[in-house]
Amino acid sequence: MIDINFETAEKESKVVIPEKLIFGRTFTDHIFEMDYDSALGGWQNPTIKKMHNLSMHPAAMVFHYGQAIFEGLKAYKQIDGRVALFRPEKNVERMNKSAARMSMPQIDPELMLQAFIELVRVEKEWIPTKPGYSLYIRPFMIATEPCFGVRPSESYKFIIMLSPVGPYYPEGFKPVPIMVTDKYVRAVRKGTGEAKAAGNYAAGLAAQVEAKKEGYTQVLWLDAIEQKYIEEVGAMNIFVRFKDEVATPALNGSILPGITRLSVLQLLRDWGYNVNERTISIDEIIDRYKNGTLLEIFGTGTAAVISSVSKLKYKDELVRFSDNDAGELSVKLYDELTGVQYGKIKDRYNWITYVD
Ligand SMILES: *Cc1c(COP(=O)(O)O)cnc(C)c1O
Repeated sequence: MIDINFETAEKESKVVIPEKLIFGRTFTDHIFEMDYDSALGGWQNPTIKKMHNLSMHPAAMVFHYGQAIFEGLKAYKQIDGRVALFRPEKNVERMNKSAARMSMPQIDPELMLQAFIELVRVEKEWIPTKPGYSLYIRPFMIATEPCFGVRPSESYKFIIMLSPVGPYYPEGFKPVPIMVTDKYVRAVRKGTGEAKAAGNYAAGLAAQVEAKKEGYTQVLWLDAIEQKYIEEVGAMNIFVRFKDEVATPALNGSILPGITRLSVLQLLRDWGYNVNERTISIDEIIDRYKNGTLLEIFGTGTAAVISSVSKLKYKDELVRFSDNDAGELSVKLYDELTGVQYGKIKDRYNWITYVD
C-alpha cells in the first residue's frame, strides 16, 4: 500500500438528476493528481484533491507535441448496493503500455489501481443508482515540461477524473448505422493505434463528422495499407457473426486491444461458438451478406458495452439488418456483460473488483 494524501472538498450539494446527464459533462468534487519529475526521481505526492483548474505553462509539451494518453472504465452500483469496477487491472496495464509507446513514464500498477479505488470510494455517492447508470472513470497523463524541443518531456501530470453517466442508449438498445470510410485511416501498423493516445481521436474526427452529415452514427475503419480489411468501428472493436463463425480482426498493431473485446472473446469461446481472430475483408462482408451467411455485426467498448449495427454503407453497397432490433448475439452479450457489472449474474471469471 502506498499512502495517498487526501484533501477534502466542501461537498457541493450537487444533486445528480439522472435523466439530465449528458455524457461527460458532469464531474464529481474530487480528482486524483500526481506529478512526475525525472529530476526528483519519479512520481511525487499522490493526492486526492478538490476539483480545480490546472495552471500550466503555455510551452508545456502536451500542447505542442501531443504527449497525452488516457483510459476509460466505469464503477457500477450493483443491485445489492456494492460498488464494483470491471477488470480495472486491465486498464492499468493498458495505460502503462500506452505510456511506453508515447515515451511517457510508467506508473506503479498497484498505486494506479489503488488510486482508482480510493477516488471512487470518496465519490461513491455520485454513482447514480438507476439501472444502466454508472460512474465513468477517466485517468489521463500529459507532458508538462515547458520546452519547444522535440523530445520526451521530463515532467508529467497524471490525473483521474470521475463523471456520472447514463446509459448509452437512453431509449433502449438500438442498432446504429455505420459508414465505411476509404477516405481517411485511423491508424497504421507500428503507429500509435494500439495506444489510447489522445491524438488518435483528433485524427478520427473528420471522418466522424462526414459520416454524421450523411446520417451515419459511426465510422468503420479499414486498414491503412490496403484499405481492404476491417479494423474498428468508431472507438469500438468490431465483431462479425457469420452463420458458422464469430470473427473479429486480429490485433495486428493498429487495433486498440479493447477490454470489452477480450471479455466477449472469452464468453463466446465458453459458450461454444466457433470464434476466430483473423483478417476480415470488407469484400467478404459484402459477399457473405449477399449469399445470406452474414447474420450480424456489432461493436464492443466500455461506453456502450455492445453496439449492434443496423446498416453498413461501403461505396455503392448497402448491408442492411434491422433498424429496430439489435442482433440476437449482441443482446445476449449485452445482457451477460451488464449482468456481471451490475451484480445480477455470478462473476465467474473474477472480473469484478469491489471498492467497498
Ligand atoms: C477504448 C477503445 C476501444 C474499446 O476498449 P474497451 O477497453 O473495450 O473500452 C476500442 N477502440 C478504440 C479505438 C478505443 O479507443
